[in-house]
Amino acid sequence: MPFHSFARRLVRGLSIIAIAAAPALATAPANADAGFQRWIRDFRSVALNSGVSAATYDLAFRGVTDPDPEVLRKANNQAEFKAPIWQYIDNQVNEDTVALGREMKRKYASLLSRIEQRFGVPGEVVLSIWSIESQYGEYLKKTDRLHYAPQALATLAYADRRRAKFARGQLIAALKILQSGNIDRRHLASSWAGAMGHTQFIPTSYLAYAVDFDGDGKKDIWNSVPDALATAANLLARNGWETGRTWGYEVVLPNTGKKFYGGWQSLRDWERAGIRRTHGRSFTINDKAELKVPDGRNGPVFLVVKNFEVLKRYNNADKYALSVALLSDRLAGYDDLYADWNRPFKPLNSNEKRELQKRLAHHGLYEGAIDGKIGGGTMGAITAYQARSGLTVNGFPSMEVLNSLRR
Ligand code: CA
Repeated sequence: MPFHSFARRLVRGLSIIAIAAAPALATAPANADAGFQRWIRDFRSVALNSGVSAATYDLAFRGVTDPDPEVLRKANNQAEFKAPIWQYIDNQVNEDTVALGREMKRKYASLLSRIEQRFGVPGEVVLSIWSIESQYGEYLKKTDRLHYAPQALATLAYADRRRAKFARGQLIAALKILQSGNIDRRHLASSWAGAMGHTQFIPTSYLAYAVDFDGDGKKDIWNSVPDALATAANLLARNGWETGRTWGYEVVLPNTGKKFYGGWQSLRDWERAGIRRTHGRSFTINDKAELKVPDGRNGPVFLVVKNFEVLKRYNNADKYALSVALLSDRLAGYDDLYADWNRPFKPLNSNEKRELQKRLAHHGLYEGAIDGKIGGGTMGAITAYQARSGLTVNGFPSMEVLNSLRR
Protein backbone atom coordinates (compact mmCIF):
# COMPACT_ATOMS: atom_id res chain seq x y z
CA MET A 1 0.00 0.00 0.00
CA PRO A 2 1.22 3.57 -0.45
CA PHE A 3 2.25 3.62 3.09
CA HIS A 4 5.59 5.26 3.49
CA SER A 5 4.54 8.32 5.45
CA PHE A 6 2.66 6.05 7.82
CA ALA A 7 5.66 3.76 8.24
CA ARG A 8 7.92 6.75 8.90
CA ARG A 9 5.60 8.02 11.56
CA LEU A 10 5.37 4.59 13.06
CA VAL A 11 9.13 4.35 13.34
CA ARG A 12 9.38 7.86 14.74
CA GLY A 13 6.57 7.09 17.17
CA LEU A 14 8.40 4.09 18.59
CA SER A 15 10.88 6.34 20.32
CA ILE A 16 8.03 8.02 22.15
CA ILE A 17 6.19 6.16 24.87
CA ALA A 18 3.59 4.17 23.01
CA ILE A 19 0.61 3.31 25.11
CA ALA A 20 -2.87 3.29 23.64
CA ALA A 21 -4.86 5.97 25.43
CA ALA A 22 -7.30 4.36 27.80
CA PRO A 23 -10.55 6.30 27.53
CA ALA A 24 -12.13 7.44 30.78
CA LEU A 25 -15.45 5.66 31.03
CA ALA A 26 -16.66 6.93 34.42
CA THR A 27 -19.75 8.72 33.13
CA ALA A 28 -20.39 6.64 30.03
CA PRO A 29 -23.27 4.19 29.72
CA ALA A 30 -22.16 0.61 30.17
CA ASN A 31 -22.50 -0.31 26.52
CA ALA A 32 -21.16 2.76 24.68
CA ASP A 33 -17.87 4.61 24.70
CA ALA A 34 -18.64 8.20 25.74
CA GLY A 35 -15.02 9.27 25.21
CA PHE A 36 -15.17 8.07 21.60
CA GLN A 37 -18.50 9.80 21.02
CA ARG A 38 -17.05 13.02 22.40
CA TRP A 39 -14.05 12.61 20.12
CA ILE A 40 -16.33 12.27 17.09
CA ARG A 41 -18.28 15.40 18.13
CA ASP A 42 -15.04 17.35 18.62
CA PHE A 43 -13.48 16.22 15.35
CA ARG A 44 -16.53 17.40 13.41
CA SER A 45 -15.32 21.02 13.31
CA VAL A 46 -11.84 19.89 12.22
CA ALA A 47 -13.39 17.95 9.35
CA LEU A 48 -15.73 20.80 8.39
CA ASN A 49 -12.79 23.24 8.36
CA SER A 50 -11.00 20.87 5.98
CA GLY A 51 -13.80 20.89 3.45
CA VAL A 52 -15.97 18.00 4.59
CA SER A 53 -19.66 18.91 4.55
CA ALA A 54 -21.79 18.58 7.67
CA ALA A 55 -24.10 16.20 5.81
CA THR A 56 -21.18 13.94 4.85
CA TYR A 57 -19.77 13.95 8.38
CA ASP A 58 -23.07 13.10 9.98
CA LEU A 59 -23.81 10.41 7.42
CA ALA A 60 -20.35 8.89 7.93
CA PHE A 61 -20.75 8.58 11.70
CA ARG A 62 -24.46 7.83 11.90
CA GLY A 63 -24.82 4.92 14.30
CA VAL A 64 -21.08 4.69 15.01
CA THR A 65 -20.94 4.75 18.80
CA ASP A 66 -17.82 2.79 19.66
CA PRO A 67 -14.26 2.27 18.49
CA ASP A 68 -13.78 -0.82 16.31
CA PRO A 69 -12.31 -3.32 18.81
CA GLU A 70 -10.82 -5.48 16.05
CA VAL A 71 -8.89 -2.48 14.71
CA LEU A 72 -7.37 -1.89 18.14
CA ARG A 73 -6.60 -5.57 18.58
CA LYS A 74 -4.79 -5.67 15.21
CA ALA A 75 -3.02 -2.36 15.85
CA ASN A 76 -1.67 -3.66 19.15
CA ASN A 77 -0.82 -7.05 17.75
CA GLN A 78 1.54 -6.20 14.92
CA ALA A 79 4.17 -8.77 14.10
CA GLU A 80 6.88 -8.79 16.72
CA PHE A 81 9.10 -10.81 14.41
CA LYS A 82 10.98 -9.03 11.71
CA ALA A 83 11.10 -11.59 8.93
CA PRO A 84 14.49 -12.00 7.26
CA ILE A 85 14.64 -10.84 3.64
CA TRP A 86 14.43 -14.34 2.10
CA GLN A 87 11.30 -15.07 4.08
CA TYR A 88 9.64 -11.83 3.06
CA ILE A 89 10.46 -12.51 -0.60
CA ASP A 90 9.40 -16.19 -0.35
CA ASN A 91 6.01 -15.05 0.93
CA GLN A 92 5.49 -12.83 -2.11
CA VAL A 93 7.29 -14.66 -4.91
CA ASN A 94 6.54 -18.38 -4.91
CA GLU A 95 4.98 -21.03 -7.11
CA ASP A 96 1.44 -20.03 -6.03
CA THR A 97 1.77 -16.29 -6.73
CA VAL A 98 3.57 -16.96 -10.01
CA ALA A 99 1.00 -19.52 -11.24
CA LEU A 100 -1.96 -17.35 -10.26
CA GLY A 101 -0.26 -14.30 -11.73
CA ARG A 102 0.19 -16.07 -15.06
CA GLU A 103 -3.48 -17.03 -15.01
CA MET A 104 -4.45 -13.40 -14.29
CA LYS A 105 -2.14 -12.24 -17.06
CA ARG A 106 -4.14 -14.35 -19.54
CA LYS A 107 -7.50 -13.42 -18.06
CA TYR A 108 -6.82 -9.66 -18.04
CA ALA A 109 -4.59 -9.47 -21.12
CA SER A 110 -6.61 -6.82 -22.92
CA LEU A 111 -7.07 -4.65 -19.81
CA LEU A 112 -3.34 -4.87 -19.02
CA SER A 113 -2.38 -3.85 -22.52
CA ARG A 114 -4.73 -0.84 -22.36
CA ILE A 115 -3.21 0.15 -19.01
CA GLU A 116 0.28 -0.21 -20.44
CA GLN A 117 -0.67 1.94 -23.41
CA ARG A 118 -2.15 4.70 -21.29
CA PHE A 119 0.34 4.79 -18.36
CA GLY A 120 3.47 3.14 -19.79
CA VAL A 121 3.69 0.67 -16.92
CA PRO A 122 4.05 -3.05 -17.80
CA GLY A 123 1.12 -5.31 -16.97
CA GLU A 124 3.39 -7.66 -15.00
CA VAL A 125 4.35 -4.85 -12.60
CA VAL A 126 0.70 -3.97 -12.03
CA LEU A 127 -0.16 -7.65 -11.50
CA SER A 128 2.65 -8.01 -8.96
CA ILE A 129 1.36 -5.08 -6.94
CA TRP A 130 -2.14 -6.59 -7.05
CA SER A 131 -0.74 -9.94 -5.85
CA ILE A 132 1.24 -8.46 -2.98
CA GLU A 133 -1.43 -5.99 -1.85
CA SER A 134 -4.53 -8.20 -1.90
CA GLN A 135 -3.60 -11.59 -3.36
CA TYR A 136 -5.32 -10.65 -6.62
CA GLY A 137 -8.36 -9.43 -4.69
CA GLU A 138 -8.77 -12.52 -2.48
CA TYR A 139 -8.32 -10.49 0.73
CA LEU A 140 -11.37 -8.42 -0.16
CA LYS A 141 -13.54 -11.52 0.17
CA LYS A 142 -12.40 -12.07 3.75
CA THR A 143 -14.77 -10.05 5.88
CA ASP A 144 -12.57 -10.37 8.98
CA ARG A 145 -9.98 -8.25 7.14
CA LEU A 146 -12.48 -5.53 6.24
CA HIS A 147 -13.48 -2.58 8.37
CA TYR A 148 -15.63 0.49 7.80
CA ALA A 149 -12.89 3.00 6.90
CA PRO A 150 -14.18 6.08 8.80
CA GLN A 151 -14.71 4.02 11.96
CA ALA A 152 -11.32 2.27 11.65
CA LEU A 153 -9.49 5.58 11.18
CA ALA A 154 -11.45 7.33 13.93
CA THR A 155 -10.57 4.42 16.22
CA LEU A 156 -6.86 4.83 15.52
CA ALA A 157 -7.08 8.63 15.81
CA TYR A 158 -8.87 8.31 19.14
CA ALA A 159 -7.05 5.46 20.82
CA ASP A 160 -3.72 4.71 19.15
CA ARG A 161 -1.29 7.44 20.08
CA ARG A 162 1.41 6.24 17.68
CA ARG A 163 -0.91 6.39 14.68
CA ALA A 164 -3.22 9.24 15.71
CA LYS A 165 -1.75 11.95 13.50
CA PHE A 166 -1.64 9.67 10.45
CA ALA A 167 -5.19 8.49 11.14
CA ARG A 168 -6.63 12.02 11.45
CA GLY A 169 -5.28 12.98 8.03
CA GLN A 170 -6.50 9.75 6.48
CA LEU A 171 -9.94 10.12 8.09
CA ILE A 172 -10.41 13.55 6.51
CA ALA A 173 -9.42 12.05 3.14
CA ALA A 174 -11.79 9.09 3.63
CA LEU A 175 -14.66 11.48 4.36
CA LYS A 176 -13.83 13.40 1.18
CA ILE A 177 -14.00 10.14 -0.76
CA LEU A 178 -17.44 9.47 0.68
CA GLN A 179 -18.46 13.04 -0.19
CA SER A 180 -17.23 12.61 -3.78
CA GLY A 181 -19.86 9.97 -4.47
CA ASN A 182 -17.33 7.53 -5.97
CA ILE A 183 -18.30 4.93 -3.39
CA ASP A 184 -21.25 4.64 -1.03
CA ARG A 185 -20.99 4.38 2.73
CA ARG A 186 -21.70 0.66 2.77
CA HIS A 187 -18.74 -0.13 0.48
CA LEU A 188 -16.19 2.27 2.02
CA ALA A 189 -14.10 -0.57 3.43
CA SER A 190 -10.46 -0.62 4.45
CA SER A 191 -7.93 -2.72 6.28
CA TRP A 192 -7.52 -2.00 10.00
CA ALA A 193 -4.92 0.63 9.01
CA GLY A 194 -7.00 2.34 6.33
CA ALA A 195 -5.74 0.65 3.13
CA MET A 196 -8.53 0.30 0.61
CA GLY A 197 -9.47 -1.92 -2.29
CA HIS A 198 -7.66 -4.28 -4.64
CA THR A 199 -4.42 -2.30 -4.56
CA GLN A 200 -4.69 -1.13 -0.94
CA PHE A 201 -4.57 2.62 -1.35
CA ILE A 202 -4.68 4.80 1.75
CA PRO A 203 -7.28 7.58 1.40
CA THR A 204 -4.81 10.42 0.68
CA SER A 205 -3.23 8.36 -2.11
CA TYR A 206 -6.68 7.56 -3.48
CA LEU A 207 -7.44 11.30 -3.66
CA ALA A 208 -4.15 11.91 -5.46
CA TYR A 209 -4.15 9.04 -7.95
CA ALA A 210 -7.50 7.23 -8.32
CA VAL A 211 -8.82 6.92 -11.87
CA ASP A 212 -12.01 5.63 -13.47
CA PHE A 213 -10.75 3.20 -16.09
CA ASP A 214 -13.88 1.21 -16.86
CA GLY A 215 -15.74 4.38 -17.77
CA ASP A 216 -18.73 4.09 -15.42
CA GLY A 217 -18.01 7.53 -13.95
CA LYS A 218 -16.84 6.18 -10.56
CA LYS A 219 -13.30 5.69 -9.31
CA ASP A 220 -14.04 2.37 -7.66
CA ILE A 221 -10.88 0.60 -6.48
CA TRP A 222 -12.98 -1.67 -4.23
CA ASN A 223 -15.09 -3.40 -6.87
CA SER A 224 -13.57 -2.58 -10.25
CA VAL A 225 -10.35 -4.39 -11.21
CA PRO A 226 -9.79 -1.97 -14.14
CA ASP A 227 -10.10 1.06 -11.83
CA ALA A 228 -7.85 -0.46 -9.16
CA LEU A 229 -5.07 -1.59 -11.51
CA ALA A 230 -5.14 1.65 -13.51
CA THR A 231 -4.92 3.59 -10.24
CA ALA A 232 -1.77 1.67 -9.27
CA ALA A 233 -0.28 2.30 -12.73
CA ASN A 234 -1.19 5.98 -12.47
CA LEU A 235 0.67 6.30 -9.16
CA LEU A 236 3.81 4.84 -10.74
CA ALA A 237 3.47 6.91 -13.93
CA ARG A 238 2.95 10.16 -12.03
CA ASN A 239 6.00 9.43 -9.90
CA GLY A 240 8.25 9.11 -12.91
CA TRP A 241 8.08 5.50 -14.14
CA GLU A 242 10.33 5.27 -17.19
CA THR A 243 8.50 3.40 -19.93
CA GLY A 244 10.42 0.62 -21.62
CA ARG A 245 13.05 0.49 -18.89
CA THR A 246 13.74 -2.21 -16.34
CA TRP A 247 13.84 -1.81 -12.53
CA GLY A 248 17.39 -3.15 -12.37
CA TYR A 249 19.67 -6.15 -12.83
CA GLU A 250 20.89 -9.08 -10.82
CA VAL A 251 24.69 -8.82 -10.71
CA VAL A 252 27.73 -10.61 -9.31
CA LEU A 253 30.37 -8.96 -7.17
CA PRO A 254 34.03 -9.62 -8.00
CA ASN A 255 35.38 -12.38 -5.78
CA THR A 256 38.25 -10.24 -4.55
CA GLY A 257 36.41 -9.38 -1.33
CA LYS A 258 36.51 -5.74 -2.42
CA LYS A 259 34.16 -3.54 -0.40
CA PHE A 260 31.51 -1.43 -2.09
CA TYR A 261 29.77 1.60 -0.69
CA GLY A 262 26.35 3.09 -1.32
CA GLY A 263 25.51 5.84 -3.75
CA TRP A 264 24.49 6.17 -7.38
CA GLN A 265 26.88 5.96 -10.30
CA SER A 266 26.64 4.90 -13.92
CA LEU A 267 26.42 1.24 -14.88
CA ARG A 268 29.74 1.67 -16.76
CA ASP A 269 31.40 2.85 -13.57
CA TRP A 270 30.01 -0.12 -11.67
CA GLU A 271 31.36 -2.34 -14.43
CA ARG A 272 34.76 -0.68 -14.15
CA ALA A 273 34.65 -1.45 -10.43
CA GLY A 274 34.34 -5.14 -11.29
CA ILE A 275 30.60 -5.76 -11.05
CA ARG A 276 29.07 -7.92 -13.80
CA ARG A 277 25.59 -8.94 -14.86
CA THR A 278 24.77 -12.60 -14.33
CA HIS A 279 24.98 -15.09 -17.21
CA GLY A 280 27.67 -12.97 -18.90
CA ARG A 281 25.07 -10.49 -20.15
CA SER A 282 26.01 -6.85 -20.62
CA PHE A 283 24.30 -3.60 -19.73
CA THR A 284 22.71 -2.21 -22.86
CA ILE A 285 22.25 1.27 -21.43
CA ASN A 286 24.32 3.45 -19.11
CA ASP A 287 21.79 4.60 -16.53
CA LYS A 288 22.70 5.65 -13.03
CA ALA A 289 22.35 2.71 -10.67
CA GLU A 290 22.59 1.88 -6.99
CA LEU A 291 24.02 -1.33 -5.54
CA LYS A 292 21.74 -3.39 -3.29
CA VAL A 293 23.18 -6.23 -1.22
CA PRO A 294 20.11 -7.26 0.81
CA ASP A 295 21.37 -10.65 2.00
CA GLY A 296 25.14 -10.43 2.16
CA ARG A 297 27.78 -11.07 -0.51
CA ASN A 298 26.66 -14.66 -0.97
CA GLY A 299 23.02 -13.81 -1.54
CA PRO A 300 21.49 -12.22 -4.64
CA VAL A 301 22.97 -8.79 -5.43
CA PHE A 302 21.35 -6.12 -7.59
CA LEU A 303 22.07 -2.89 -9.40
CA VAL A 304 18.80 -0.95 -9.37
CA VAL A 305 17.86 1.98 -11.59
CA LYS A 306 15.27 4.76 -11.46
CA ASN A 307 12.17 2.53 -11.74
CA PHE A 308 13.13 0.72 -8.53
CA GLU A 309 12.89 4.05 -6.71
CA VAL A 310 9.51 4.65 -8.35
CA LEU A 311 8.25 1.30 -6.98
CA LYS A 312 9.25 2.52 -3.53
CA ARG A 313 6.76 5.36 -3.85
CA TYR A 314 4.15 2.67 -3.38
CA ASN A 315 5.79 1.44 -0.19
CA ASN A 316 9.08 2.89 0.93
CA ALA A 317 10.95 -0.36 1.59
CA ASP A 318 13.60 -2.05 -0.55
CA LYS A 319 12.16 -5.47 0.21
CA TYR A 320 8.74 -4.35 -1.05
CA ALA A 321 10.12 -2.93 -4.30
CA LEU A 322 12.26 -6.03 -4.75
CA SER A 323 9.24 -8.31 -4.30
CA VAL A 324 7.30 -6.41 -6.96
CA ALA A 325 10.34 -6.45 -9.26
CA LEU A 326 11.14 -10.14 -8.87
CA LEU A 327 7.52 -11.29 -9.16
CA SER A 328 7.01 -9.13 -12.26
CA ASP A 329 10.13 -10.65 -13.85
CA ARG A 330 8.77 -14.15 -13.19
CA LEU A 331 5.41 -13.18 -14.72
CA ALA A 332 7.25 -11.78 -17.73
CA GLY A 333 8.84 -15.20 -18.21
CA TYR A 334 12.35 -14.57 -16.87
CA ASP A 335 14.19 -17.21 -14.86
CA ASP A 336 14.40 -17.25 -11.12
CA LEU A 337 17.44 -15.63 -9.49
CA TYR A 338 20.96 -16.73 -10.30
CA ALA A 339 22.14 -16.60 -6.69
CA ASP A 340 19.99 -18.13 -3.96
CA TRP A 341 19.02 -16.45 -0.72
CA ASN A 342 20.92 -17.50 2.39
CA ARG A 343 18.13 -19.59 3.82
CA PRO A 344 19.30 -21.54 6.86
CA PHE A 345 17.41 -24.58 5.51
CA LYS A 346 15.75 -25.91 2.38
CA PRO A 347 12.53 -23.91 1.86
CA LEU A 348 9.20 -25.64 2.37
CA ASN A 349 6.84 -25.56 -0.58
CA SER A 350 3.43 -23.90 -0.27
CA ASN A 351 1.58 -27.12 0.58
CA GLU A 352 4.11 -27.88 3.31
CA LYS A 353 3.79 -24.35 4.71
CA ARG A 354 0.01 -24.72 4.86
CA GLU A 355 0.38 -28.13 6.50
CA LEU A 356 2.73 -26.55 9.03
CA GLN A 357 0.15 -23.88 9.86
CA LYS A 358 -2.61 -26.50 10.14
CA ARG A 359 -0.56 -28.60 12.52
CA LEU A 360 0.41 -25.56 14.63
CA ALA A 361 -3.29 -24.65 14.80
CA HIS A 362 -4.08 -28.21 15.85
CA HIS A 363 -1.60 -27.78 18.72
CA GLY A 364 -3.46 -24.62 19.77
CA LEU A 365 -0.47 -22.43 18.89
CA TYR A 366 -1.73 -20.68 15.76
CA GLU A 367 -5.00 -18.88 15.03
CA GLY A 368 -4.25 -17.17 11.73
CA ALA A 369 -5.16 -18.07 8.17
CA ILE A 370 -3.95 -21.35 6.62
CA ASP A 371 -2.49 -19.53 3.63
CA GLY A 372 1.13 -20.63 3.43
CA LYS A 373 2.33 -17.10 4.16
CA ILE A 374 4.82 -17.06 6.97
CA GLY A 375 4.28 -13.87 8.95
CA GLY A 376 4.66 -12.87 12.58
CA GLY A 377 1.78 -15.09 13.73
CA THR A 378 3.22 -18.25 12.19
CA MET A 379 6.74 -17.41 13.38
CA GLY A 380 5.47 -16.83 16.90
CA ALA A 381 3.71 -20.20 16.83
CA ILE A 382 6.82 -21.95 15.48
CA THR A 383 8.91 -20.33 18.20
CA ALA A 384 6.55 -21.53 20.91
CA TYR A 385 6.54 -25.02 19.42
CA GLN A 386 10.34 -25.12 19.09
CA ALA A 387 10.80 -24.02 22.70
CA ARG A 388 8.31 -26.62 23.92
CA SER A 389 9.91 -29.42 21.85
CA GLY A 390 13.57 -28.78 22.56
CA LEU A 391 14.34 -27.68 18.97
CA THR A 392 16.53 -24.72 18.03
CA VAL A 393 14.35 -21.67 18.68
CA ASN A 394 14.39 -19.36 15.65
CA GLY A 395 10.79 -19.16 14.37
CA PHE A 396 11.73 -20.45 10.90
CA PRO A 397 9.41 -22.77 8.95
CA SER A 398 11.88 -25.60 8.37
CA MET A 399 11.40 -29.26 7.50
CA GLU A 400 12.78 -30.06 10.95
CA VAL A 401 9.81 -28.32 12.55
CA LEU A 402 7.30 -29.87 10.14
CA ASN A 403 8.69 -33.38 10.65
CA SER A 404 8.58 -32.92 14.38
CA LEU A 405 4.93 -31.77 14.16
CA ARG A 406 4.10 -34.83 12.04
CA ARG A 407 5.29 -37.24 14.72
CA1 CA B 1 -15.09 2.98 -12.70
